[in-house]
Amino acid sequence: MNLKTPVKEADRIFKNYASRLDKLGIKTLEDLLFHFPFRYDDYSLFSKISEIKPGQIVTVRGIIVDIKNIYTKGFKKLQKASVRDESGTIGIIWFNQPFLTKYLHAGENVYLSGKTELFSNKLCLISPVYEIINKEGTNIHTGRLVPVYPETKGVSSKWLRRQVYKLLQTFTNDLSEHIPSLIIERHKLMGLNEAIEQIHFPKSLKKSQEARKRLSFDELFFLQLSRLSKRIKWESNLSNALSVPRYEKEIEKLINKLPFNLTSAQERAVSEIFNDLSSTKPMNRLLEGDVGSGKTVVSAIAMYLSYLNGFQSALLAPTEILAQQHYKTISSLLLNHGVKIELITGKSKTKEMKKGTNIIIGTHAILSEKITFRNLGLVVIDEQQRFGVEQRAIIRKKGKNPHLLTMTATPIPRTVALTLYGDLDLSYLDEMPTGRKEVKTWLIGEEKRLKAYEWIKKQIKETNCGVFIVCPFIEESETLLSIRAAIKEFEKLKTGIFKDFKVGLLHGKLKTEEKDKVINEFKAGKINILIATPVVEVGIDISNAAIIVIEASERFGLAQLHQLRGRVGRGNQQSYCLLFTESKNSKTIEKLKSLENIHIGAKLAELDLKLRGPGEIYGTMQHGLPAFKIASFSDISLIEKTRKEAQEILPNISRYPKLIKKINESDKLISFD
Ligand code: ADP
Ligand code: MG
Repeated sequence: MNLKTPVKEADRIFKNYASRLDKLGIKTLEDLLFHFPFRYDDYSLFSKISEIKPGQIVTVRGIIVDIKNIYTKGFKKLQKASVRDESGTIGIIWFNQPFLTKYLHAGENVYLSGKTELFSNKLCLISPVYEIINKEGTNIHTGRLVPVYPETKGVSSKWLRRQVYKLLQTFTNDLSEHIPSLIIERHKLMGLNEAIEQIHFPKSLKKSQEARKRLSFDELFFLQLSRLSKRIKWESNLSNALSVPRYEKEIEKLINKLPFNLTSAQERAVSEIFNDLSSTKPMNRLLEGDVGSGKTVVSAIAMYLSYLNGFQSALLAPTEILAQQHYKTISSLLLNHGVKIELITGKSKTKEMKKGTNIIIGTHAILSEKITFRNLGLVVIDEQQRFGVEQRAIIRKKGKNPHLLTMTATPIPRTVALTLYGDLDLSYLDEMPTGRKEVKTWLIGEEKRLKAYEWIKKQIKETNCGVFIVCPFIEESETLLSIRAAIKEFEKLKTGIFKDFKVGLLHGKLKTEEKDKVINEFKAGKINILIATPVVEVGIDISNAAIIVIEASERFGLAQLHQLRGRVGRGNQQSYCLLFTESKNSKTIEKLKSLENIHIGAKLAELDLKLRGPGEIYGTMQHGLPAFKIASFSDISLIEKTRKEAQEILPNISRYPKLIKKINESDKLISFD
């Protein structure tokens, strides 16, 4: 047995637990060591028995004077004991644990941790955690900072504690240090062995924090190393990319002819992209901006430059609707500039490209083998997180190292982007086009719900606008539970308060045709109110939707709420977002209220991160981000330190075989893309 041994091939005790441990993501013995506690119970301070008062949580160290089972009138079993230290004696009561008398005997030294109460007028410790003292310092359940782990059915913290302790006794020396000593010294990091020991069984809170820092360092460091090494690979392997010279005049003409002025954020993004395009290294850039911030326009300008230089471009969108939308937008932007644009989706009759096409826009259909390019110079991928690695690879292979521009409306804070997308360059559209009406946002307490419904009715009657009602966030991936909740809400509103209106229902389990039908009816105003689950299409553009109601808004992250809110406000009319909450927690209220004033996704995401604080898992739903075991995206200073170290060491990485091995391992772990 060693640390790489799969749980199911290890000793019997582990084997029997294999399927349960699997639920915690524990597959090998090493995984068990890297299953970290999320907090500690502090049983480290001993109380003198004579000084204990009722209602305290205490730990005592003493000798068992007597212990026995007692049968009460109701035939319940009590276990009564008394324990003495040098200052006095205290009674102990357990309920219905008759086996205890087999395990604990008079004369034994024990630790006991628990709450004191008056029991039959006598001060007692009630159902304390107990542990026999064999040797000072070998206790793991009491008398110290006691780790509390993420548990699952049939795997308790107590069990985990015991097994981790055993593993630590046997294997700690198998964990060889993989961080170069220079870095260890520079950042005063705890050694790996010690860190693993101290994260589980810390000598003090301070030690546990040092351990946490060390293990977070590792996680961030290896993630960044893996991203940055990907970048180097990209740049070196593909050095014969097509460089695109500039055509200042034509571009200026195009920009001048646009029906609006570019925002300065768009100008910045365009110039960053142009710099990339005129280099021999293939561009690998992520363009991030809220829905409506003007990403499509930026990509259109880039594709136009590619066209001017004689190259074809492809724009890949995740859905039929989005592809059509892009086709319309881009065709109108590039109208009268001589560009031949073609749309190909699953619904297109011809699945081959016409001769002379300069820009092809489409869904997965353009990945088909039948679609071939003469000279594909630029690939644009919208909503990049919706495509897998293979799909991105397929489209890129249709050209000779084409430039790649990926776009996302997912509000990722800068720190997170730097960590996760270290292999990409980043352009941010942190500004909305002027004249765009902000979605007026109100936080609404339960007492005003009916009033709000009345207001909505009035709005529909007056403006004929569409209304989204988003059901509470129940689970990450939409299963029956969420859908049932949506259906229930749908039935209730349809026959109740909104019985005079047309109410529709939209959720992820509807067939595509059904979905399209509902969306089209909503678009056409045939449905006034659309009840939806939180996970349905973020990108859809319904210009007459002017109100969005979000139920139980406290269950969403700020960035998520912002994304939901982005479903309205596409048209010209004033739009509204009504956040319902039953929460009375002042912090929650304050957090939700920030949506009333902040309207840029990335800023909200940043705030979200700050308010959540370290240790909390960063909303994985909308991001598809990996959940760190221990590190936190909000630890900006550690992110920066690890990034710097990763950048510095990468050119000499061949000197550190242990690092290379770890990079490959963490690559496998963090396969979010
Ligand atoms: P995104 O792809 O980021 O959601 P689009 O590029 O589709 O945004 O732009 C949304 C709408 O805003 C489009 O109708 C577009 O023509 C318009 N638009 C883009 N940039 C500007 C701007 N600078 N000023 C005014 N309107 C703009
Ligand atoms: Mg878009």
